[in-house]
Amino acid sequence: MKNKATEEKVLAQLLRRNMGKAISDFNMIEDGDKIMVCLSGGKDSFTMLDILQQLQKKAPIQFELIAVNLDQKQPEFPEDVLPRYLDSLDISYHIIEEDTYSIVKDKIPEGKTTCSLCSRLRRGIIYSWAIKNKITKIALGHHRDDIIETFFLNLFFGGKLKSMPPKLLSDDKKNTVIRPLAYAKEEDIAQYAKFKEFPIIPCNLCGSQENLQRKQVKKMLSNWEEQFPGRLQSIFSSLSNVAPSHLLDPSLFPFKDLINNAVITTEQEVLFDDLETVLPNSKKETVNQLEIKNLS
Ligand code: SF4
Repeated sequence: MKNKATEEKVLAQLLRRNMGKAISDFNMIEDGDKIMVCLSGGKDSFTMLDILQQLQKKAPIQFELIAVNLDQKQPEFPEDVLPRYLDSLDISYHIIEEDTYSIVKDKIPEGKTTCSLCSRLRRGIIYSWAIKNKITKIALGHHRDDIIETFFLNLFFGGKLKSMPPKLLSDDKKNTVIRPLAYAKEEDIAQYAKFKEFPIIPCNLCGSQENLQRKQVKKMLSNWEEQFPGRLQSIFSSLSNVAPSHLLDPSLFPFKDLINNAVITTEQEVLFDDLETVLPNSKKETVNQLEIKNLS
């Protein structure tokens, strides 16, 4: 049986591998980047900062990390916890103090969900701080399970096939958000946070109820995983293996242009089971199994 130190080492390796792959797949970090690492005080952001620092030491490129916490002036927020932890690390940090708690309490009637206004205010403050401080990337601690949950929330309640992107350009194109933990499982992060004994700050200080729909989706997913181990990873893999030709969005695939014996000039991929319909006989044998590009 492995001891705690070995298990922690193996987990750290796994998280570094996950993060390294996500960074490389989406070109999240480039030489000279100044990265604002958003630290909420939860297990995810502590883990993100810890693993980013480990990768920074080994990376062949130079980039700067600045840990930033937004103190939203929630009641009983333990102001000393994060500075004490960050002082123990070799990292620059900054605490932004903005009383969004009072604004939210003032604007939202008692009993209504406060998260959407709160998140909007938080995003505005973080984006402005990043611009003012010449930040090139804003790193958030969302992980694989957040991405899957968001996918189902959009599917069930929004009628959209979309999730949380690993890399995002803000609407005004002034900020780039990255999610280096995009490939990491929540259970691995939770275990790692336990091993490392991060000084976790409870996330219910604002008194808001956790989003009920997200809670339900989380439960549904964990039941599925229990019943059918591996299902979550399969769902997650499907998000990076999309076949627009087998969905129903004409803006992503030129369905109107498909005719028998046509020559395919699109870069869109065509799945195997459709080759009979769309390819002339002479071309079938030259076809790569999953990708048909510019046949002529
Ligand atoms: S849980 Fe509280 S702090 Fe978090 S987004 Fe909702 S209102 Fe804001």
